[in-house]
Amino acid sequence: MRGCSDAIWPAADFAPEIDEEKCLLRSALPVCPCCKGLARPNILMFGDWGWIESRQQAQTAALHAWLKQMKRPVIVEIGAGTTIPSVRHFGEAARGALIRINPTEPGLPKGKGFGLRMGGLEGIRRLRDALAAM
Ligand SMILES: [Zn+2]
Repeated sequence: MRGCSDAIWPAADFAPEIDEEKCLLRSALPVCPCCKGLARPNILMFGDWGWIESRQQAQTAALHAWLKQMKRPVIVEIGAGTTIPSVRHFGEAARGALIRINPTEPGLPKGKGFGLRMGGLEGIRRLRDALAAM
């Protein structure tokens, strides 16, 4: 929370004890190994100037390197709406086909792939069944 360093560490050692009835955390909150102050998840929120982007940048670079190796990539996008369209933009801009599963906004650019107007679970089951029938 203090931003004392750009370190990111796994939360595998954090084992929260929860009072589910009261919806309360009973154990200690996670702390920064450097300053012992309160730690936060490294998750990007809107207007979040404390988010450390180095891990995301490395993952994005690895994703693009991997995609370059694919001969005929297919992206399956599930439930990404138009209010915050960054996920939709990724699939539409990437090389390869896009399968968009969305119960209310399944449309996509012409020639890019196809949309399934349904929920995510049903869409995955239909894709599974279609692949099994091939
Ligand atoms: Zn710290």
